[in-house]
Amino acid sequence: MIPATIRRLALPVSRISGVQRLFRLRSRGPTVLFYHGVEEKIVDPEIQWVHTLLGVFERQIAFLRRQREVISLDDLYECLVSGKRLEPRHIVLTFDDGYKNNLGIVAPLLQSWNLPFTIFVSTRHISERRRFPWYFIRVAMLYAEKRQIHFESIQKSFDLSTHEKRVTAARSIIATAKKAPLNLTENLAKECMDQLAPERWAELNARFMSEEPMDWDDVRRTQSMGATIASHCHDHCILHSKQSEQEVYRQLNESKAAIEKKAADCKYFAYPNGTADDISGVAYAAVKSAQFRMAFTTVRGEITPDCDCLVAPRIFALPDYEEFCYLVNRSSRQNEIYRTTRWQWQSKVSADQPMVLANSEGETS
Ligand SMILES: [Zn+2]
Repeated sequence: MIPATIRRLALPVSRISGVQRLFRLRSRGPTVLFYHGVEEKIVDPEIQWVHTLLGVFERQIAFLRRQREVISLDDLYECLVSGKRLEPRHIVLTFDDGYKNNLGIVAPLLQSWNLPFTIFVSTRHISERRRFPWYFIRVAMLYAEKRQIHFESIQKSFDLSTHEKRVTAARSIIATAKKAPLNLTENLAKECMDQLAPERWAELNARFMSEEPMDWDDVRRTQSMGATIASHCHDHCILHSKQSEQEVYRQLNESKAAIEKKAADCKYFAYPNGTADDISGVAYAAVKSAQFRMAFTTVRGEITPDCDCLVAPRIFALPDYEEFCYLVNRSSRQNEIYRTTRWQWQSKVSADQPMVLANSEGETS
């Protein structure tokens, strides 16, 4: 592992000298990047951890405008189905969850540069303007006045006597919530909400406006500014094997129907959390039966002719400028990660759903 100080010096040198351009020669196809939100200022990184700073985001987009070509998801899909050459210089910009700053900060910037982008929204959070469970867990663990909290739903207590212990507790509860069936995730969030008085929540909610989701008017406004609106489940439900088949189908069908009623055709999907462990065989079958054109994971890789469009790779847009440029320039290196993950995942899914992957090799629709 290269020490951080040397890496910080080496990355800009390799970028400016053109060394990173050589890595790009190995690229085989477009890259789909994913962000969450963009904020001018981060007050508490433990709470606002999914957002990229505006200054960094502007530099990243300027880099992409200089060196790449940003295309829409429809353009990418068109290339795949028409058998056109997949261009490694092509980049697709996506944003997960549907934060309000996608309208206030992201959309005006991207519109001013005429760049298309896609927002994957969790429709219940949009309809109810309800924040995500992770927000309630983090805030309760970091801001509750108690020095210990007991959770009935998981029969576990957490020591909150120091800041470090609070951070560890929040991460541990979030890890549990992400692996749990949806009702347990909701119960954990509810227990966290009960830890603070309503006035305290009002104060903290105002401090952390970055965590506020858009409403449907906001969604339609981003759409008019160049966004494609796509599904990220109804309740941001992580579609692993703990969710019932009925729940998985409900998540996809309700979110698709809501987007089509309130905004426009819903042709694309992003799996919440999106690692190989977060996608069951049932989820894959449900995405296929809902007739999404493409569904995206968070497994790293480029879009190559042999990728499975219903579990397509994406690359997280790292919040550091030099690390971001390096990762984008070396995206071909990530293809092995996608291939290996897909192979492991296919063996798991094949056991779950023997028919699902019968036509997955080279499938593009
Ligand atoms: Zn998400």
